[in-house]
Parts: sequence; structure tokens; C-alpha cells
Amino acid sequence: MRNTGAVPTSSNPVPASLPWIERLVSVDTTSRDTNLPLIELLEEEMQRLGLTPERLPNDDGTKTNLVLTLPAADGSTGGGIVLSGHTDVVPVDGQEWSSDPFVPQIRNGRLYGRGTADMKSFIGVIMHRLPELAAAELSEPVHLAFSYDEEVGCLGGADLAAALGARPEPPRVCIVGEPSSMRVIAGHKSSNVVELVFRGRSAHSSLTPDGVNAIEYAARAVTAIRDLADSRCAHGPFDDNYLVPWTTAGVNVISGGIATNTVPELCTVTCDFRTIAGDDPAAVIDQITRQARELETQMRAEHPDASVEVNVVAQVPSLESSTGGPAYRLATQLGGTATTDKVTYGTEAGQFANAGIDAVVCGPGDIAQAHAADEYIELDQIAACEQFIDALLDRLTQTDG
Ligand SMILES: [Zn+2]
Repeated sequence: MRNTGAVPTSSNPVPASLPWIERLVSVDTTSRDTNLPLIELLEEEMQRLGLTPERLPNDDGTKTNLVLTLPAADGSTGGGIVLSGHTDVVPVDGQEWSSDPFVPQIRNGRLYGRGTADMKSFIGVIMHRLPELAAAELSEPVHLAFSYDEEVGCLGGADLAAALGARPEPPRVCIVGEPSSMRVIAGHKSSNVVELVFRGRSAHSSLTPDGVNAIEYAARAVTAIRDLADSRCAHGPFDDNYLVPWTTAGVNVISGGIATNTVPELCTVTCDFRTIAGDDPAAVIDQITRQARELETQMRAEHPDASVEVNVVAQVPSLESSTGGPAYRLATQLGGTATTDKVTYGTEAGQFANAGIDAVVCGPGDIAQAHAADEYIELDQIAACEQFIDALLDRLTQTDG
């Protein structure tokens, strides 16, 4: 049993939603593991309130999305507002934490713990207000959309966005509560992961002509991807609303070889690239694939069994909402800070937009603290998020419609 009784050490008032946030943070939902214990916690509360959440599980049933539609006062469930959050968190492996990442702790006006910023505070604030939301006479429906495996490529979000988008009358707007310091973000890059598997031929390292060195060919692919990235940096396309205003690409994981005296048969290269909206991810994948085919031809000249496999492991579409659109307008009216800044990280907002639901990102906490050791969220950010959700409740229960 974990002790979740965080004690404030500064003068900041403790946000009312803190118990829910602490409860969520204390359930370890690292993406490699199941998220079911956390989902059960959410379901239990929803059922306690007489609500009927719906699961959208993954193929082997080890993880699930959770959707809850709160109908409008007239009973209708069409249209409405999606509040979207992911339930998983990134690993703490190899990180040095000052306190247990899964025992939330308040120090100096901040709540520390894995997922405090990314993004259990947003979900916690919603769960805190769920009794009022459920009891309210809403002018339009509210849909809670909680996903799995966001941190490994928005895997759950793909199904979740598609399912909501496929409803007879889909929700009209979506607010994704990723940490944006409560700024309303209408654009982010696409995020793509491509794996290249080089299969050569092993041989004793003294007999190089008998082998096909998979690492050597993989190395050529690595430099080709760097060339691709350099060319985007030099020639664009550009979008100055981004901190890094061009499409980025790089090989961030590589593995190959078994011994210094053996020509390596296998080498795997994993590339991450993020396009701005003016650049087509399919064109980048095409370019990488053509390069791979060329290297395969060269390898086969050494031995016909050699091959190069190209796998698109994950793809999250970019987001390019209008700052004049309904999602942006709603989020700013609820107290989100208006900005034209776009963010470099991918989110499920791109998936909702792709499913025909106007989406923006607006959530508490700073992305700079997400994924890091000693992840934290300022208590003020939690308070700002509480005000945002309260403003939503007010807006949806105004009797003058
Ligand atoms: Zn996140």
C-alpha cells in the first residue's frame, strides 16, 4: 500500500482535485505494462455515479481505452465536447529521482511524481469534477476519452478517435489535455517512427568476402537520413510558429553485431521524424524506402539472400487546426491562453482532427518537465485547470443556452 498523503511545504493552497491526481499517479501505468488497474479505478467511480463507461480494448485485452459519454439534458449524445487524456506514462528506468516517482509528493508549490505533468493531473481534475458533470443539465454532451499507449506512438488514440469520429453524429470539438501550460495550441508536427532491418550474412571476420556486413549498410542509411534532415533544415519547407521550424529526422536507436570477430548479419536502425504540415510524411517514408531499396540492391550484389526491411512502427498525424475554429474558440473562452505557437511534440489531437473532430491541445503543466526525472507540475497549473473545467461546467449549464 503506497502512502499518497502528500503534505504541502509551501504557502500554495492545495488544489481540491489533489486526492484524485495522487490516486492516479500512485498507479504505475508505464506503457510497457497494463493500464487496467487505473482504468478499473476510473470505472469504479463512474459506476458509483450511475454512469456507463465503455472499454475499447487492444487486441490481446491487456490494455484499454475508456470512453464515457455524458448526455445532454435532453438525452442526446450526438455532437458535444471531447476531453481527451492518455492514461500511460513513460518509464523511469535509469533516471535519478529525489523521491519515489509513484508516491506523489508536494515540495515548494509543486507536485512531484511520474505523470503529474504528462498527464494525470488533467484526468484527475476531470475525475474530481465528475459528480457535478454527471448531475448537471448539460446543453451538449461531454465525452471523456482516456487512452492507452500514447507514449509509444498514440496506439490507443487511433482507435479511440476513429470510434468517436464514426458515431452517427460525432463530437464537434476535442480538447486534448497534454501539458501546454494551459496555452491553446492549434498545431503540432506529425510524429513517425520507421524501423529499418538490415539482413546481411555472417562470416568469420577474417573472411569478409564471405559475409555481407549489415552494420556497414545500416551506417549508410543512418547518414542518408542525416542528409535528408540537413536538406529539410536548409531548404524547408518552414513554419515559423515552431521552435524548430522545419521537419526534423534522426536515427535514435541502433543495434547490431554479436562479436568483434564476426561479420554482423543483422542490424536494426530506428528513425524518428516529425513533419510540419507543409511536408508530407508519406513523401519522407518514400524517400527512406527508396534509399533502403538501393542499399538492398548493393547488398544483394554481395549475396542474393541479403535484404532490407522497412517497417513503419508508429505514425501520428500532424495537427493544423484553425485559430478561428470552434475548438480553439471554446478553449480560449474557458480560460486557455491564446497563442499562435505550435508544438513539436505529437499528440492525439492530430488523430481527432483526422477523424473529423476539430481539436486543440490545452492542458496543465509544462512539457519541459514531462518524461524527465523529478517530473512535477506547479500547483498553480492544477488550479488553472480546475478553473478551466469549472468554466466548462458553467458554460454548459447556463440556462439561457
Ligand atoms: Zn503526454
